Formats: sequence, C-alpha cells, structure tokens
Amino acid sequence: MQARKLLTQSKLRITQNREEVLALLLESDVAVSNQVIESSLGHIDRITLYRTLKTFEDKGIIHKIIDSSQRSKYALCAENCTDHAHDDSHLHFECTQCGDITCHMDVKIPELHLPEGYTVSEINVIAKGLCSSCQ
Ligand SMILES: [Zn+2]
Ligand SMILES: [Zn+2]
Ligand SMILES: [Zn+2]
Repeated sequence: MQARKLLTQSKLRITQNREEVLALLLESDVAVSNQVIESSLGHIDRITLYRTLKTFEDKGIIHKIIDSSQRSKYALCAENCTDHAHDDSHLHFECTQCGDITCHMDVKIPELHLPEGYTVSEINVIAKGLCSSCQ
C-alpha cells in the first residue's frame, strides 16, 4: 500500500515528512529504529520524527518493538490495528547476528492462563536466533 493512501485512510493530513517516514517503513522488511529513519531521510529533525512516529502509533499504523538493547524499533501493524486498539501480539524475531527484528504476524502467541486477579494488557515476545539471511 502506498504511504499517501494509508495516510488518507487513517485521516491524517499528508505532509512530506509523514509521507517519507511511512514510505520508508512500508519498504522495509525489518523493524527500523528512529536513528535509521533519521539518517536515511537526512533532513528530518529528531522532534518531528518523534512526533510523526507517535502519531502513527496512535493511529494504529505502526507498533513499537523494544529490542534486547532497550532500543525502540518500529514496524507496520497488521490491518486489524486501529486508532482504538492495537493487536500486535505476534512474535518478534531478533537475529543475534545482524540484529534485524522481524514481525511474524502468522505466529500467534498462545493465550496465557494467569491466576485470578491478573489481566494482560500487552504481551511482548521476542524470539532470538538466526534469521534466514544469516543461516
Ligand atoms: Zn498495532
Ligand atoms: Zn540476521
Ligand atoms: Zn510486530
């Protein structure tokens, strides 16, 4: 899907920054950090980028993944995410060789059976190992 179309669909005003950041995320097979976005686009300042990513996150377009070095990375959401609720309880895979994080939407996290009184609001599962290009 094109960035412009996705922005319109999410009722977001189209700006050059939004379009470029989203296009970059759409093209990427792996989750990207804000440093990577910043250096690939060159002209965007940190605050604008931070706000842009926050807006996308609020709108259910992207989700944040925290890698094992506590760095935030961003990836596109599946279609079932909305501005009301995210549904990103899929598996994330972190490659110990290249550091790439990939989303695996088709790998569902099993339902957890917790003791009474516990409610889950978010599940964060990261599997580590070698990705297909590092095998
Ligand atoms: Zn989401
Ligand atoms: Zn790898
Ligand atoms: Zn993901």
